[in-house]
Amino acid sequence: MSHAKLFIPGPVEISQETYEAMCTPMIGHRGSEFQQLYAAIQPRLQTLFGTTGPVYLSTSSAWGIMEGALRNTVIKKVLNCCGGAFSDKWYDVAKRCGKQAEALQVEWGQPILPEQVDARLATGQFDTVTLIHNETSTGVMNPLAEIAAVVRKYPDVILIVDTVSSFSVVPTPFDELGVDVLLTGSQKALALPPGLAIFAVSPRAMERASQLSDRGYYFDFHEFHENHTKNMTPSTPCIHTIYGLRQKVEEIFAEGVAQRYERHAKLNAIVHDWVASEGFHHFAPEGYRSKSLTCIANNKGIDVDKLQKLMKQNHAIAIDGGYGKIKGKTFRLSNMGNETEESITILLNALDESLSHL
Ligand SMILES: *Cc1c(COP(=O)(O)O)cnc(C)c1O
Repeated sequence: MSHAKLFIPGPVEISQETYEAMCTPMIGHRGSEFQQLYAAIQPRLQTLFGTTGPVYLSTSSAWGIMEGALRNTVIKKVLNCCGGAFSDKWYDVAKRCGKQAEALQVEWGQPILPEQVDARLATGQFDTVTLIHNETSTGVMNPLAEIAAVVRKYPDVILIVDTVSSFSVVPTPFDELGVDVLLTGSQKALALPPGLAIFAVSPRAMERASQLSDRGYYFDFHEFHENHTKNMTPSTPCIHTIYGLRQKVEEIFAEGVAQRYERHAKLNAIVHDWVASEGFHHFAPEGYRSKSLTCIANNKGIDVDKLQKLMKQNHAIAIDGGYGKIKGKTFRLSNMGNETEESITILLNALDESLSHL
């Protein structure tokens, strides 16, 4: 069977160059070759994260660090900003870790507003906040800078931010925003295979972690840091995905980071023009729409399942038919990774052709 090209919002299509880079022979993870590999990627990651501090590599999907960050920081109570599948789940995960947690719940498709965060933090109950910058399930991009500014009024509150589907799509400057934990995963905006989480931790969050004695081992921030000073990871990492990451960061810098941001904005705008021309609506309100994917409201009542099947059978393209409770009520198109004007045009033409059969 032919491969259906992925336009789902993760995992996204992987380039031939990345696959080839991953065919580099295996090396030991405690030797100088691995240390050189790790050290070579570090300055690129620091630039992308906007930090002068370390950037750590975790062999896990993003959820490893999403859960780990809670175990490293929450002593009193965490405020989980919830408004979609991933952010709602983070609240559930906090409770499963035995943490005191409260959901700041907005309706799916709505953004988290800074004043809502401020009002909850003003109660003095919380020492940690979780925020998903780009809620992939709803296509909402939350106002990160404004929310970070509010949290920074509270010096003892740790801000954990998930940028899984926005990292390298729009700037997320860690130091400048005053974020305490910023994490991303490999298989979405970075267009790498799954299995790697990448994250930065502020000195304030490291200090908080020192006060917790039940951080465990695999996601212990201090373990990551100690190994980082030797250009290593705590346990055997996914070396091949790290080879892929080396190729990816070189590719990003060859394109230019600003150019990469511009390309994503432009491709996203092309999809938005198509949405308008077809008479569809967006699930997210204007001003809060993702730049890496488009979550389209099914206001025309089309058969989304059939659309997906036609796209796959006739065009070898995989699109998403909506996540969780908004399955069929929405569908999503990704413009993450290595897409171009040409490839997005192919996608939109295929959608037009498929819609004509519905
Ligand atoms: C996909 C996704 C995750 C979960 O990533 P895993 O790699 O499955 O752990 C978390 N947050 C956001 C915003 C996502 O899009």
